[in-house]
Amino acid sequence: MQKTASDQHGILYIVATPIGNLGDITQRAVDILSLVDKICAEDTRNTRKLLTHLGLKKNLVALHDHNERQKIDEVIEWLSNGEHLALVSDAGTPLISDPGYHLVKALRERDFQVVPIPGASAIITALSVAGLATNKFSFEGFLPAKETGRKQALLLNMENSYTQVYYESSHRIVQSVATMRDVFGAEKKVVLARELTKLYEQFFYGTLDELHQWLLDDAMHQKGEFVIMLAPSEKEDSDSNSFEASTEQLLSVLVDELPVKQAAKIAAKLTGQSKNVLYKQAMALQKN
Ligand code: SAM
Repeated sequence: MQKTASDQHGILYIVATPIGNLGDITQRAVDILSLVDKICAEDTRNTRKLLTHLGLKKNLVALHDHNERQKIDEVIEWLSNGEHLALVSDAGTPLISDPGYHLVKALRERDFQVVPIPGASAIITALSVAGLATNKFSFEGFLPAKETGRKQALLLNMENSYTQVYYESSHRIVQSVATMRDVFGAEKKVVLARELTKLYEQFFYGTLDELHQWLLDDAMHQKGEFVIMLAPSEKEDSDSNSFEASTEQLLSVLVDELPVKQAAKIAAKLTGQSKNVLYKQAMALQKN
């Protein structure tokens, strides 16, 4: 059962905001932002622009990497006084390479109510169109700024068999891709998503060597915000595909012999996949 500090206490809403296109805010996010007493924002100037776009005037409080720990007591006091609060970052989902972790942890430990208002995040947006395996992926966030640290972090991922996702800014995109090429090899497959949902949204699909050259070819290619996605090794990729293929094979054998519901139930037990998803697949197979 969910424990809460008290019904009299306020709620902290973790509100996702757009990663570029301002149309990508949810109706629920707008409703919550207009309802709360205060909005804790990574950069109040950026959030003010969003609020102006939404036609909202709110009480904004700065909460960023440098003051987050000091702000915890104040936030606890506001919530204890029954105020409802929202936490937003400059873009996307708070806590995803953005401030908020220490605050949410502290509130959870004290049984305050923290409610997610989901929306855009660059990692999921990028993965949804990359065409890389998404059954398993590892989010690596930003690489260290210095070459030695960067290389060490990447070396630790040599054995990583998932699609790897990195965030990068214009300042270090060329160096990071160069180090990736050194560590994983020139032929490693990569997808780069640049300026997602914005005017100059662009995708690059190729090898690390080709991506490095593409970045050097045109200074414009180095501008903006990036998500770098490294493909799993061919073996893992084909393994994951063949796993999907074998699930389908398994289902079609079961559907031939059993009622759809029972076929889906057994396939779910054998593969660990969702019974509902398998039921839909089994229905489709039966129709065919
Ligand atoms: N909280 C955000 C989220 O949910 O994605 C991430 C914030 S992090 C400080 C900023 C980084 O996210 C950028 O340097 C870039 O790697 C990635 N990012 C954010 N917006 C993006 C966009 N529109 N296109 C590509 N990458 C983006």
